[in-house]
Amino acid sequence: MAGQLTEGCVSRMLDDSEKNVDFQPICQVLTVKMIKATKEGASDRYRLILSDGEHYAQSMLATQLKGLVENDGLARNCLIKIKSYAPNTIQDRKIIILLDVEVVDTTIADRVGDPKSYEQRAAPAVKTEGGAGTSPAPRANAGAMPARRAPTAGVRAGGDGSINKNPVYPIEGLSPYQNKWTIKARVTSKSEIKYWSNARGDGKLFSVNLLDETGEIKATGFNDAVDKLYPLFIENRVYYISKAKVNIAKKQFSTVNNEYEITFEKDSEVFECKDDDVGDVPEVKYNFVPLDQLDSVEPKQTCDVVGIVDSVGELGEIISKASQKPVQKRELVFVDQTGMSVRLTLWGKTAMTYGTDKGHVGAGMDDRPVVAFKNISVGDFGGRSLSMTSSSSMMVNPDLPEAHSLRGWYDDEGVALSSKQAFKSYSSAMLGNSTVGANSSDPKERKTIGEVKDLGLGTKPEGKADYFNMRATLVYIRNENLYYTACPGEKGPGEKCQKKVVCESEGNWRCERCNRSYEAPDYRYMLSANVQDYTGQLWINSFNDVGEQIVGMKAEQLEQLRNEDDGEAKYNQVLTKAANKMYMFNCRAKMDTFQDQERVRYSVTRISEVDFAKAGNELVEAMKKFL
Ligand SMILES: [Zn+2]
Repeated sequence: MAGQLTEGCVSRMLDDSEKNVDFQPICQVLTVKMIKATKEGASDRYRLILSDGEHYAQSMLATQLKGLVENDGLARNCLIKIKSYAPNTIQDRKIIILLDVEVVDTTIADRVGDPKSYEQRAAPAVKTEGGAGTSPAPRANAGAMPARRAPTAGVRAGGDGSINKNPVYPIEGLSPYQNKWTIKARVTSKSEIKYWSNARGDGKLFSVNLLDETGEIKATGFNDAVDKLYPLFIENRVYYISKAKVNIAKKQFSTVNNEYEITFEKDSEVFECKDDDVGDVPEVKYNFVPLDQLDSVEPKQTCDVVGIVDSVGELGEIISKASQKPVQKRELVFVDQTGMSVRLTLWGKTAMTYGTDKGHVGAGMDDRPVVAFKNISVGDFGGRSLSMTSSSSMMVNPDLPEAHSLRGWYDDEGVALSSKQAFKSYSSAMLGNSTVGANSSDPKERKTIGEVKDLGLGTKPEGKADYFNMRATLVYIRNENLYYTACPGEKGPGEKCQKKVVCESEGNWRCERCNRSYEAPDYRYMLSANVQDYTGQLWINSFNDVGEQIVGMKAEQLEQLRNEDDGEAKYNQVLTKAANKMYMFNCRAKMDTFQDQERVRYSVTRISEVDFAKAGNELVEAMKKFL
């Protein structure tokens, strides 16, 4: 019976760095143990102990092979043929990752031979080959071990053949603890080259997002790697990539959901994959949102859209408020069968080259191509608008069913709609039923107080306003001039005068504008309060409606209270109670001249109580980006 097992194969699998693709040993499975997934969305995995009759060693079954255990009789004592594997080191212990396995005999009742642990025997010799001088870091949780996928047999190299030495890993299987790998992945987006300059020097970088059937990962190259690799990568093509470093992901700079990311190094190898070998690498998957449903996408989220570029704006340039550097922008009008049009902004190099000969998009300025966007950012400027970000990708005239049907529709009917300017736009639809002004800038743009000041909001000339939202705690309400005596008269039909009136004698409150006197005035808030968050403090002003909400009573009631016995104490009590509350403030910042001095005045147009559950979830999302 021992003759069925491949003699010495355990040591060969663990120590043989020059892996032979034709080596397909047969082992006995001594135990099968399920490792529960520790993360949501991850799969349970199986750990096996394999024996060649003389030695045994730990191994992990690639996730997609779990059906062998669940359906195909892979169990204790059975024999398996290992068609593809990779040695790996976890917590300083060597194990075998099973990438492709076949169950060959399930009839064996007992353990074959008396195998000993291979590790005990080999302990001093255990060192990873090709570790580039870095010993693998210990891993806290072997259960979180990456899964492997079966590679395509016989990796075809595009260059000197050196990638042949590394097994093709699934993106999901990459970790910092394994450095001999090759991935075969599609470039779903490629950034521009970004330059930086700071106290420690300057440099440049670029990044690509990579996709295979197991997941996505971001890869970044710095300086020399930019020169070497940037020209090689073309969006939507498939590449073999090896000899790069796997690091913990900096999620604040990424939209890719992966614990790790790749950094290209000097000797990193990138080969484009031949067409006939691309088969198993998925195409970019789109989940298109029709333009008339963009209002169901939360602002600042990303989505995929496909449509026709109905018109192309001129190249413009703005100074980025965040970086204080000039950025090129170009606005497109984007339409689809729903009859909607939406503004779409391209930035940087994409904006500069769009519609030009040099444009990699290959579209002429007058063309009305079908364009598909992946991960485009949704804004609520003017209702809904779209904006490319560094992780968005754009494909012109893609070979997708949605694109063909759009082409047909546009040439039949869309052109006519376009010439009649009959597309509905979000901006006009929205502006019709909302207050003027609030839409002249993104009203949902949330800022910290520090950002409001650093960005110089409200410092535009000619009295132009900036709008922002902030979450802050109201800490103090100024108790002088909290409200004023207002004219109760009517300025027009249904419109109160509200001008300040002066008491000339009892029952004689005079309004200059109405040119008459009233028995009693109205009382209206002109509340001034100090608000703070973790970045700073500022003074805000608000009028009657917001004032009533903050104080919790009408100004007239507050005035009555103040006139009671002990009125001043009661009055101050109300104000103390009203302070120390957290709100979402919708604000307008604008230059104001006060006693010949220019200053920024922050007016609150609306407040709402903080929804702590929702705010908590936002915080969780924000924190995840640092984990
Ligand atoms: Zn009046």
